[in-house]
Amino acid sequence: NKFVYFFGNEETEGKNSMKDLLGGKGANLAEMANLGIPVPPGFTITTEVCLLYLEKGAYPEEVIDQINNTIIKLEKATGKKFGDNGNPLLLSVRSGARVSMPGMMDTVLNLGLNDDTVTALSNKTGNERFAYDSYRRFLTMFGDVVLDIEHEKFESALSAKKKNLGVELDTDLNADALKELAEEFKGIIRKETGNDFPQDPREQLQMAIDAVFNSWNNQRAITYRRLNNIPGEWGTAVNVQSMVYGNMGETSGTGVAFTRDPATGEKRFFGEYLMNAQGEDVVAGIRTPEPISTLKDNMPEAYAQLEAIYKKLEDHFTDMQDIEFTIEEGRLYMLQTRTGKRTAAAALKIAVDMVNEGLIDKRTAVTRVSPEQIDRLLHPTIDSQAEYEVVATGLPASPGAAVGKVVFTAEHAEQMAKSNEKVILVRTETSPEDIGGMDAAQGILTVRGGMTSHAAVVARGMGKPCVAGCGSVSIDMTSCSFSVCDVTISEGDYVTIDGSTGNLILGEVELVTPGVSGELDTLLSWADEIREMGVRTNADTPHDAQVARDFGAEGIGLCRTEHMFFGDDRIPAVREMILAEDTETRKAALEKLLPMQKEDFIGIFKVMEGFPVTIRLLDPPLHEFLPKHDEIAERLASLETEGASASEIERIHKILERVDSMEETNPMLGHRGCRLGITYPEIYAMQVKAIIEAACELKAGGMDIVPEIMIPLVSHVNELSSTKKDLVEVAESVMAEKGCKLDYMVGTMIELPRAALTADKIAKEAEFFSFGTNDLTQTTFGFSRDDAGKFLPFYIENSILPSDPFAVLDQEGVGELVKIGIEKGRSTRPDIKIGICGEHGGEPSSVKFGYNVGLNYVSCSPFRVPIARLAAAQAVI
Ligand code: ADP
Ligand code: MG
Ligand code: MG
Repeated sequence: NKFVYFFGNEETEGKNSMKDLLGGKGANLAEMANLGIPVPPGFTITTEVCLLYLEKGAYPEEVIDQINNTIIKLEKATGKKFGDNGNPLLLSVRSGARVSMPGMMDTVLNLGLNDDTVTALSNKTGNERFAYDSYRRFLTMFGDVVLDIEHEKFESALSAKKKNLGVELDTDLNADALKELAEEFKGIIRKETGNDFPQDPREQLQMAIDAVFNSWNNQRAITYRRLNNIPGEWGTAVNVQSMVYGNMGETSGTGVAFTRDPATGEKRFFGEYLMNAQGEDVVAGIRTPEPISTLKDNMPEAYAQLEAIYKKLEDHFTDMQDIEFTIEEGRLYMLQTRTGKRTAAAALKIAVDMVNEGLIDKRTAVTRVSPEQIDRLLHPTIDSQAEYEVVATGLPASPGAAVGKVVFTAEHAEQMAKSNEKVILVRTETSPEDIGGMDAAQGILTVRGGMTSHAAVVARGMGKPCVAGCGSVSIDMTSCSFSVCDVTISEGDYVTIDGSTGNLILGEVELVTPGVSGELDTLLSWADEIREMGVRTNADTPHDAQVARDFGAEGIGLCRTEHMFFGDDRIPAVREMILAEDTETRKAALEKLLPMQKEDFIGIFKVMEGFPVTIRLLDPPLHEFLPKHDEIAERLASLETEGASASEIERIHKILERVDSMEETNPMLGHRGCRLGITYPEIYAMQVKAIIEAACELKAGGMDIVPEIMIPLVSHVNELSSTKKDLVEVAESVMAEKGCKLDYMVGTMIELPRAALTADKIAKEAEFFSFGTNDLTQTTFGFSRDDAGKFLPFYIENSILPSDPFAVLDQEGVGELVKIGIEKGRSTRPDIKIGICGEHGGEPSSVKFGYNVGLNYVSCSPFRVPIARLAAAQAVI
């Protein structure tokens, strides 16, 4: 079994594709050596050894032998000898998992130094200062990283030394000072561990290797793995590499660079370096590093070589690289290369540029930008340069940041918006009546509610930032203020919210909208060429429909008609309809609504010309449209004190009784959806009449519309067949009256487990299915969407559930019902059109799942359309 892989120009044993075994750093060091790039030779101990060691607490004999043999090889390659008192070989010991992982052990440099080899190094190089600078660095790193002594202990001894000698920089310390420091550091090690610093280089190496492996299971690493879904079974590799010295004087140095600008993606070499420095000095801020461009003047040869290498690396890896290099007395060495982290804007620009440069193809480009990055690009964010203090954190319910004056009511939000004030609507929770205020506000903050609370869903739909469930905020409506962290914020004070992180910040913070140029369009058009699933939108108004069209939506997958019942011009008629005591009065009230709904549909159809529009008939329980009990009771009380007429009091009293009688213990499972349509057929009849009349009128004007009428909350096929029969009658009679022949479809939501389980029967009646995964999740788990906030966060924190099933589709449970529904539906109607219209329709992993189970399209809120387009393409690749 091979446990140790050598790298160095001639005899490199590993390569780039061996990341699982050699870790990312080791595999790329080998690859650079293979490319003939100057890399200090060394070797990688595999991740397998890590797992064996962690399991058994010891190394197989073979591993020790292979390490010893490879050290001999390394000695030959470098012409130095490990532990030698003439020309000592010094090593760096570096951790390296498959993916780079903060939390793992830090690197130890200059290993192999002791009281004898430091003298040898000094004699050999004729540079005593350099030798003792290396020694004091090694003692610090070994003490800190391997022996677990607080870094601060060494740091303060170093500062004291500088202060004593009246110098400012590390580089101002002379050989004698550094020599004294080495003695002091050894003293610290003795004091802190009770043992002398290990002088034997072999023992040092063994301890350092053990420390790397053990660090795989330290708390920081475990936490990082949990947060990033990295399996513990991966283990880490250890890289042992011969040292090159950037601290030998003014012709030596070290630096880090990116092959393109990681912030903007611009094609320019970007980085920093320091002369007479080693290791992390550049990033640790010990001295101010120089921009890489000045290296061209300081060391033209090394710079030219570096330039050639970075180009070679980018060509080879066909992606932007993040590189580390060291110059030792004018000679350049590469110490690391990896795919560079970048901002969303840079990811987009680099992907598109690289296709244009012929470096990658379109399919690859589409995988280079994550859906989350697209999301970030579409919303304003807090300026990364800004300084601010977060006073509370809620749920990141709808991304983007917003600044505005605090208001506590929807009306107030609308008023202020009319006078061009920017406001943040702060509510305990929102309800459908707040829509106008939410629309007028820059962003929404709620005290209660989860990721699928009303505020969250509506805000995402509107593309507005929202922080939901910010429990540490307490609103006091009597004084029109809220308090958080001992601070009181009054109406009119400025706050900033960040819906991408859930943060609440007091005052105004500078926002930036990352410039989305034509590149986003380009990338998404490539995604469109690749994807096989349609992408529609959930939109209830012509405005939202237009926004979604502009984002590339190919139709509406869900038009919720309940929003058409709100609004000052409609709500009186709606209430009249609900309070009606007989069918005739109800019909008369519905007649008033008919023209308004028809106008709404005409508006939406026009925007979506040529694309399908799925309209869901009324779904929520009727009492949602009525005033609340307390509100009416208050009104009644004041009427009585005012001495209003007996008949007026009687009228209001009746309303109160009616409202009370309609109250439900469990409205989500109550009198709603098709149950409403079945018990009050005239409601759906009016809606269908409005839809068909609208389509007929447009058709007369030459516009072809295929309305898809969708019946909500069907659990038994009989509910659908009975509703459908009535609807078809209405539709046919409208068409006869208008003398218009129209194609239309009648289908249903699959949002109850029983519907999924009996989808074969339902499909005989339904011409299309749309999985309403919000309700389906609610009813499959038995979690009330509006109350899950009380326990779901705890579940997720304690790994009882992997994620919020209202945000990320539960593929195992809810997904299984989706699968069953699709299979059964297609068994009786093979060409049935099937989509998904829950919140999951715009969530990347759920989109991928939808592709795998054979959905025809996904439908999501307008601002998530670009995300779904990209995710649908990535699902294919
Ligand atoms: P990280 O994963 O934190 O970047 P590295 O192992 O890459 O840790 O190394 C930390 C620092 O030490 C880097 O600046 C790197 O360039 C430097 N370094 C690592 N190995 C050597 C070496 N053989 N010679 C000189 N410097 C080295
Ligand atoms: Mg590094
Ligand atoms: Mg539903």
